Amino acid sequence: MSEVKFKRLALIGIGLIGSSIARSARLHNLADEIVCAARTADTRRVALELGIVDTAYENPLDAVKGSDLVIFCTPVGTYETLAKLVAPALEKGAIVTDVGSVKNAVVKAIGPHLPDHVDFIPGHPVAGTEKSGPAAGFAELFIGRWCILTPTGQASEDSIKKLSVFWTAMGSKVEAMDPEHHDLVLAITSHIPHLIAYNIVGTADDLEDVTQSEVIKYSAGGFRDFTRIAASDPTMWRDVFLHNKDAVLEMLGRFTEDLTALQRAIRRDDGETLFEIFSRTRAIRRQIIDAGQETPEPDFGRVHAAEDLDHKA
Ligand code: NAP
Repeated sequence: MSEVKFKRLALIGIGLIGSSIARSARLHNLADEIVCAARTADTRRVALELGIVDTAYENPLDAVKGSDLVIFCTPVGTYETLAKLVAPALEKGAIVTDVGSVKNAVVKAIGPHLPDHVDFIPGHPVAGTEKSGPAAGFAELFIGRWCILTPTGQASEDSIKKLSVFWTAMGSKVEAMDPEHHDLVLAITSHIPHLIAYNIVGTADDLEDVTQSEVIKYSAGGFRDFTRIAASDPTMWRDVFLHNKDAVLEMLGRFTEDLTALQRAIRRDDGETLFEIFSRTRAIRRQIIDAGQETPEPDFGRVHAAEDLDHKA
């Protein structure tokens, strides 16, 4: 199977991820009809104005009726209620999936409520930005990024293949994994980095002997790169931490031990240890660039003052 086309794609939630799927699915002609459900009238209006969906419903039940692909694109904490709500209207043979950033909790939140006549395949596109809402999406978001599927025995091989082809057509590389393993991997690669960013930006905000204006003024020293991550959607990230508690706490324990080792090395003037750790981490960045997951440009390819003047000249 190298091509796939769904009759009707229903996106439950149409924020950054849902709207990026709508744009990409339309661009690549992956569904005859694309519909969404969104709770606020404003979101429905924007989605329609952008022309990324054919119909925007208030009630998710109306969106899933007649749909052969249903994708949950709301914060993870909403999934259980939504699954219970839409279950009676799901079509026989429909594929039901999601884009949630945690997987074990999603399997438990959605799986038990679905009828036997649908195929449930949890998923997570490892792609995103710090922006939210339907206007923030773009069709290229998934190109070259991994989409992890965590099938649990509630789907046929054929449906898993169909969903893989759907993500591949949008530019993703697809991999299958156990939900538990997904949560452990993402805890260290995504969830802990977000927690650290939220924490460091929060700490800077609380400092009494450094003024707010100094934090902003000297932010190019590293701080501003944390602020990008710390500007991510608070609802989404609250739900990620509440629903990946065990893996995050386990990784946080490891992180704290390593931070304590760094603290000790600094206190003991142990330059050798610091140098060894910093050299090891530099090699990791090289590997990420070599894997095509980051630009090799210095400072993330930002235009610097002198180049900016060159461009304007
Ligand atoms: P987003 O831009 O904030 O959009 C969220 C959507 O969910 C909006 O349509 C919103 O509707 C709707 N929604 C929020 N709370 C709801 C509720 N209580 N009931 C019904 N609908 C609700 O979020 P996103 O970044 O697309 O994230 C969506 C999902 O993708 C999350 O599960 C997240 O874990 C996952 N994900 C995100 C990223 C990322 O980097 N952002 C990456 C990979 C996966 P209104 O606009 O009407 O409020």
